[in-house]
Amino acid sequence: MSSVAKHSWHQSMKDAIRDSTTLLHRLRIDPDALGTSAQGERQFPVFVPEEYLNRMHPEDPNDPLLLQVLARKQESDTVLGFDEDPVGDSRVEKVPGLLQKYHGRVLLIVTGACAIHCRYCFRRHYPYSSAPKSIQQWEPALQYIASDTSIQEVIYSGGDPLTVADSVLADLTRQISSIPHIRRLRIHTRMPAVIPCRVDSQLCAWLKSTPLSKWVVLHINHPHEIDYSVETAIEKLQATGTVVLNQTVLLKGINDKLDVLRELCERLVQRGVMPYYLHQLDRVAGASHFECDPEAGRSLVERLSEMLPGYAVPKYVAEIEGRRSKTPLR
Ligand SMILES: *Cc1c(COP(=O)(O)O)cnc(C)c1O
Ligand code: SF4
Repeated sequence: MSSVAKHSWHQSMKDAIRDSTTLLHRLRIDPDALGTSAQGERQFPVFVPEEYLNRMHPEDPNDPLLLQVLARKQESDTVLGFDEDPVGDSRVEKVPGLLQKYHGRVLLIVTGACAIHCRYCFRRHYPYSSAPKSIQQWEPALQYIASDTSIQEVIYSGGDPLTVADSVLADLTRQISSIPHIRRLRIHTRMPAVIPCRVDSQLCAWLKSTPLSKWVVLHINHPHEIDYSVETAIEKLQATGTVVLNQTVLLKGINDKLDVLRELCERLVQRGVMPYYLHQLDRVAGASHFECDPEAGRSLVERLSEMLPGYAVPKYVAEIEGRRSKTPLR
């Protein structure tokens, strides 16, 4: 046996840091230097696994990873235009746990749980308790998918679908792949960049065994999030025949700098991961301090495209309710 006991992803979830005080204490940062929001934490608790904490720089109150997960005092501000359901998800729920906004693809809220709580998350107020929790409860969603032959792609989302056990995911995927008009499976997940050991042999085995075309969309916002363990997780996913893409949210004070975005895109394409979308922040209540001016965003992406090959430049988009696709901002 190796003396370095292999940590399971379940254990990492159980041991995650769940409050600002502990988080700041671990990083040796004075809580008064930053200011935290008790109200924000009550609404949406702090949740940070050790693996993610380890990529933060101790004693740096401006660490770009810390600022994504710490409930800062600005969360308590009420700002006009920032709402609980900014993208109208509740209005496109067809059956419990299934959203359809766009032609040919549906999004399944596989779970409400995440491996990390990102403070800017547009689903931070989503009523997850109503989402299905067992395979039987998926029946209406599966029937909906089976009855509409224009649907070619099923997207596992959440929450983070990879917080669900492999046996459940494998079961669900088997049922979905038996629907003749479904060709593609897409998984939207932050897990490989948060608890990289989640990409284990069991996960890779069921992914590899599905006959569907497989796409994983990661969510990485800053180059400091990519370390050796994340690169290894990406390689394992790719080895199953999965195409790996990344989406990023443009976040003020975190990645709204040319050098940061450029390094992120370069690190991603170096590993064969295509930068897919750069999202304008959804205007969710409690996240106004993360918002960047779309003009500044446009200019950043323009400068990026002057430095990088086309495939390394993400599409800068906003989610605007009622549109037939995400809305390009350039
Ligand atoms: C963003 C989103 C998708 C995926 O859109 P793509 O442009 O295909 O990446 C699908 N369904 C919903 C409800 C979405 O919000
Ligand atoms: S992992 Fe995704 S769904 Fe979960 S809190 Fe972060 S942004 Fe939201």
